[in-house]
Amino acid sequence: MINSLNELYCLGIESTADDFGVGISTGGGKIIANVSNGYIPEEGGIHPREAARHHAKVASEVLSKTLVQAGIKSSDLDLIAFSQGPGLGPCLRTGATIARAIAAYLNIPLIGVNHSIAHIEIGKLETNAKDPVTLYVSGGNTIISAFNSGRYRVFGETLDIALGNCLDVFSREAGLKHERRIPLGAALEKLALEGKNLVSLPYVVKGMDVSFSGLLTAALNLLNQKRYRLQDLCYSLQETTFAMVCEVTERALAHTEKKEILLTGGVAANKRLQYMLSLIAKDHGARFNTVPLKFATDNGAMIAWTGLLAYKNGIVTPNEKSMVKLKWRLDRIDIPWIN
Ligand code: AMP
Ligand code: MG
Repeated sequence: MINSLNELYCLGIESTADDFGVGISTGGGKIIANVSNGYIPEEGGIHPREAARHHAKVASEVLSKTLVQAGIKSSDLDLIAFSQGPGLGPCLRTGATIARAIAAYLNIPLIGVNHSIAHIEIGKLETNAKDPVTLYVSGGNTIISAFNSGRYRVFGETLDIALGNCLDVFSREAGLKHERRIPLGAALEKLALEGKNLVSLPYVVKGMDVSFSGLLTAALNLLNQKRYRLQDLCYSLQETTFAMVCEVTERALAHTEKKEILLTGGVAANKRLQYMLSLIAKDHGARFNTVPLKFATDNGAMIAWTGLLAYKNGIVTPNEKSMVKLKWRLDRIDIPWIN
């Protein structure tokens, strides 16, 4: 018998791209398990169907490990949440199918969660930020967002590829590898520390939006010309792209007059980006927050927690409305849990 909503257990499934993650949160916001298994392509970028195959293969093992870590049985679960979008179709569908099956088997409610909102909500939960301007930067998304009038609004976003994708493609072309499961962006960050000379790259901010594809092409051309040290190119790529997203975040902060910045998503692990944003926060008398490393990259815990926020406000997703939404924007969703 559940005494209060805070005692609910929600299991969250994340499968938007390369990571298959499962986490469990209590209704009170305690993350009691978070397990992930990432697909690493043998060569090139993420192949959606290969990644989906990976997710199906590792799903039962990741689910079992999550329950063991949480110290509960599947029959103790009260809710199942899953990433309904945005993301890669085959990957999303694999996660959704697993979520529907578990919810039906246990006869408990299903909740479809927006992946981008989940990155913001786990950042807020873990840092205690209340109403931040958020810079969400990952392998698939680059969004500057803040809450206003019932929804998270998009103040700026990428017009083409995501920041993490830009760093990953450059790193891969430069011969950096996913060594010991270290992400490509982290390998680039390490090399950038040895960079000394800033090489000029296109700085593309259009209004409040950013664009990385031309900049990436220019960086790849310089790489192929072998005129500069790789360390200097890594350094310059970071400085240029990070300055672009920082500029837009700063303008969103100045416009909204909010008092907190939140950095979230896989690229939030980057120390240089953290430092640049912390300076902006300081200039504006705002508090700077970074999501903890274990919740920076895609994970199931953030889906579980956001599912709970929704459920506590009366939101469930009936089966017939549980189809995945590949381009589901965060500004299309009413957020009843924020006043
Ligand atoms: P996500 O899409 O949220 O799972 O995050 C994955 C992205 O984060 C990939 O593009 C990674 O290369 C990137 N990433 C992870 N660690 C770092 C880092 N230290 N610096 C820059 N990018 C990173
Ligand atoms: Mg990922």
